[in-house]
Amino acid sequence: MRHETTARPRPFFWNVATIAKLLWCHQSAIFKMRKETPTIKSAIKEVMKVPNWRVSIPRRTGRPARSVRSADHFDGTLDDEERHARNYPTERRVFKWRNSLILAQPDGLTSRLAYEFKSCAKEFWVKFEKPVARLQVQIYGYLFGRPKVRYDIWLREEQEMISATEKTDRAYVEEQMEKWGRLVAGGMRPWPPKAIKCSSCDFLAECRISPSTP
Ligand code: SF4
Repeated sequence: MRHETTARPRPFFWNVATIAKLLWCHQSAIFKMRKETPTIKSAIKEVMKVPNWRVSIPRRTGRPARSVRSADHFDGTLDDEERHARNYPTERRVFKWRNSLILAQPDGLTSRLAYEFKSCAKEFWVKFEKPVARLQVQIYGYLFGRPKVRYDIWLREEQEMISATEKTDRAYVEEQMEKWGRLVAGGMRPWPPKAIKCSSCDFLAECRISPSTP
């Protein structure tokens, strides 16, 4: 005898930073999602206790970040974001997407744009880091309904900032979200990235698709 079930599928719990990692490596984004799901799930539940699932986070107080750059080189206690990111207020929110709940907290949010800050060791890595930063902030622009997005990437070795401002591209975000949904559901095989990305990957030991795996 067959038993039909009417149980609804269990929701996925994601955060935007993990989704954007799919442009670094499909497989590492999936590993990261699995590892972080308990933490993300409890963070989502906390936000969902608040009306409208929305927590306002004010602008950082104290000295404006950019005014302390020269002194900061001697101060190992300030991280790149505190030293170099633009100082906007932001929000932490939970959004529904299909059968998923998505935790979203851009590094900044104004009435017109969403903002994301990244840093990397040196200019060599920008070609890999930029698509991730761009997708992450594009998803924020999409979810928060902002018409523009801006991202900064701080290069530690060169002590330079790479910046871009662009329109929110809803079609691009929807295409990438669909891809992420297929990856997570097993409807798409993870594609290996360039081998150099595996050299510093936390998941190398358990990975079966790395070009570095013998
Ligand atoms: S080892 Fe390479 S292919 Fe595997 S998850 Fe890490 S970056 Fe991706």
